[in-house]
Amino acid sequence: MSDYKLLIGGKLVDGDAQMDVVNPATEDPVASCARASKGQLDQAVAAAQAAFPAWSATSIDERRAVLVKIADAIQANLADLARLLTQEQGKPLADATGEVFGASAFFRYFASLNLDARVVQDDDAGRVEVRRKPLGVVGCIIPWNFPMILMAFKVPAALLAGNTVIVKPAATTPLTALKLGEIIKDIVPPGVVNVIADANDLGGEMTRHPGIRKISFTGSTETGKKVMASAADALKRVSLELGGNDALIVLDDVNVKETAPKVFGAAMQNAGQVCIAAKRIYVHESMYDAMCDEFARLAGEMVVGDGLEQGTQMGPLQNKQQFEKVMGFIESARKDGKVIAGGGRKGDKGYFIQPTVVRDIADGAKLVDEEQFGPVMPVIKYSDPAEAVRRANASIYGLGGSIWAKDSERAWGLAEQMESGSVWVNKHADLQPHLPFGGAKFSGVGSELGEEGLKEFTQVQVLNMAR
Ligand code: NAD
Repeated sequence: MSDYKLLIGGKLVDGDAQMDVVNPATEDPVASCARASKGQLDQAVAAAQAAFPAWSATSIDERRAVLVKIADAIQANLADLARLLTQEQGKPLADATGEVFGASAFFRYFASLNLDARVVQDDDAGRVEVRRKPLGVVGCIIPWNFPMILMAFKVPAALLAGNTVIVKPAATTPLTALKLGEIIKDIVPPGVVNVIADANDLGGEMTRHPGIRKISFTGSTETGKKVMASAADALKRVSLELGGNDALIVLDDVNVKETAPKVFGAAMQNAGQVCIAAKRIYVHESMYDAMCDEFARLAGEMVVGDGLEQGTQMGPLQNKQQFEKVMGFIESARKDGKVIAGGGRKGDKGYFIQPTVVRDIADGAKLVDEEQFGPVMPVIKYSDPAEAVRRANASIYGLGGSIWAKDSERAWGLAEQMESGSVWVNKHADLQPHLPFGGAKFSGVGSELGEEGLKEFTQVQVLNMAR
């Protein structure tokens, strides 16, 4: 028996197995939760299939009302969900609170959208309408860096379009998703939303499952390729939100003291575990030393600790594997550049890493070319802005990027040349529910959020009648 059960067919059920979830700040278990078997995945798919005809036949107003009720329920449980999120994910409680609130806001946003038929022709010769139909059962696969908000990128859009869903959180952060399942159990009709948890073994089963019509996936590029390959057999739709290696370019006219904290924040938010964190910082040679000094000062002042402790600005890495991976990036950076702040583990319990700044490092170094996904920022010198943009674009990734300048028109002109799904000027990682978000190149396929994101959960149907 567990406090954290699966939601299958409208019922909270124990898993065929149990698993412990570790608090990354203490390395102690937070809780034990239900772990689904392949058979329970099959049950969830069957429940979602059975619920589909009635759910897809409801009016959009009925579905909107359900989304608003879910948003209200998330808000009513804000404090509990935020605390649980900090315990399983590690982020500071204020950030966790913001994430949970954001999740409710995203449900509310999707409740405001329409999917009206577009009348293309209506005259004596005939009537033609372009309609948007639901796809069927949608599998939502979520990573561990933002378990709540990334679920809210997918689930409300899928539901509004008339699909039924199966949510699968990451193996190291299943608790908030399971809790949400419990919270919404009596709000959604049985089988419309199913929540399962796994030990990193059911994602592939979902992508291969013949009963699922679409996979909405957020995670690493490597796993994204596997999703696409195994979805091919059943010709499932996929949308893939994958890794990034965002370049942030600082032009030569900025005020160093004002700009440095914003750039530093763009790299260090969520301990750097953000798909659109600034992961390569290109700074003009005229202010390179001054900017590096500011970053080092800010890193030294940052309060790293348990997210539940007041005053904590940065929590631990989310899991041991990621902790070790980021420590490996630091080791390689010692050879490729000069570590001027941080540079190691903090304490001997919990997956804490000191905010680390590396200067005198260049393209070609592992820390610059690969996605570190941790609190380690490489600061790279450049002399010609056009050349900096070319270097920024010389990456397999194309998720986000930004240009920082006093002369924002000049920055806009350079921003247009960046090969990424989102480009910001004088800010970074500004995600909003009404703005489509997606990656270029190896950073993804398709987009989420906004009307474009909603449409990805639909099939176009043309109704064409002669008169
Ligand atoms: P991951 O790819 O290891 O895991 C993501 C999810 O996929 C988990 O739920 C996991 O259980 C599941 N999974 C594992 N194997 C699978 C398989 N064969 N088929 C289907 N699903 C499978 O990613 P992660 O380490 O949890 O997350 C970090 C990565 O995610 C980073 O690269 C980051 O940039 C990326 N990310 C991207 C976005 C975005 O919107 N583009 C957002 C957040 C994170």
